[in-house]
Amino acid sequence: MRSKCLSIGLALLLFGCKGEVNDDWQKSAIPPIRPDAAVKLRVVHAINPRLARFSPDHLKIILASAQLTVWKNFGVYIEFTDVPEMRIDQLFALIPPAVMQERLSSIYDFKSGKGDRQKLVEGIDATLTERGTKLEDALSFAAPYLPANAHPEDLMALSGLLADVMLERLQQWRRLNAADGAPVLDASPYNEWVYWDTLGYGNLPYDLVITNQPIASAEYYGADLHSAIRGGLTVGTTSFSRDSKYGSYIVMSTFPFQDDSALTKLLRGGEQYSEEDAAELAGAYLAHEIGHLLFQLGHPFGQKSCVMNPVSMLRFREWARQLDGAECRIGSRPEMTAGAIPPTYNAAWMKMLQPR
Ligand SMILES: [Zn+2]
Repeated sequence: MRSKCLSIGLALLLFGCKGEVNDDWQKSAIPPIRPDAAVKLRVVHAINPRLARFSPDHLKIILASAQLTVWKNFGVYIEFTDVPEMRIDQLFALIPPAVMQERLSSIYDFKSGKGDRQKLVEGIDATLTERGTKLEDALSFAAPYLPANAHPEDLMALSGLLADVMLERLQQWRRLNAADGAPVLDASPYNEWVYWDTLGYGNLPYDLVITNQPIASAEYYGADLHSAIRGGLTVGTTSFSRDSKYGSYIVMSTFPFQDDSALTKLLRGGEQYSEEDAAELAGAYLAHEIGHLLFQLGHPFGQKSCVMNPVSMLRFREWARQLDGAECRIGSRPEMTAGAIPPTYNAAWMKMLQPR
């Protein structure tokens, strides 16, 4: 979710993930895993010490829930390493500065007020257009979140409304305070999706990063209807990683499960989670990202039995209840075919890295 997915160039057009559009995108040659492969994912808990986080026991519940959901839906037994803890600043030290520099211009800077709204609107319009979105369909989905008197006549007008919703909600995330009284989204870049999407260009020794950090941001490329309405909030992303044997790595934010702010509750559509529920649901949704990581699956949008169908807003219980692995086996649909979306990387950025 943003229920983001693979980080992308060409595939961006097809699968609804964020990424800059240029000509240097290439598909990784790493194949999806074989069904009988032994899988042990390398895990780390990357924390922002200022913010609430799951206890070690609840982290175990997340991983147990992911393991069970992967088993039920993909028929594969996976394991995880122990979960060391590190601070996000230590993790971000792995990001190659040259690549990050290249990508900074794709970030809509909502903290400084210097973002270019028109460029954001055009970016949303481009995404909707590229995906063949029908105005009527988009409106029937988005109407409850738009002003009551809004009657956009084309995708560009709708994009303007969506940009306004996105920016307003980003400001709502920004007004949220942590237990220490300071804003959850402070001056650090930890909330910026682009940083997490660049991390795998460094020497990242993990396949799965679980973080308590809310990842809420806007980019000029790839924002879609869902991410706009969520105020740019990401739950999980599977992004390129040059050091992973799977070709990519997962970052999973536990914030959308643990947070109890008014905006989160609104996006949850009334669902309430105990700490245990939150951990269990986070694990179930982690299986979605693991489907991207191990099998390179896509998104069978609207196929509610499928773990690869992205959650609607933050209604994780509704999403989890409808899963039925027997109804949505690997290979049963084009998006559920192993290798549907191979990891992609930017060759120009790879050239900027020091040889190892
Ligand atoms: Zn996805």
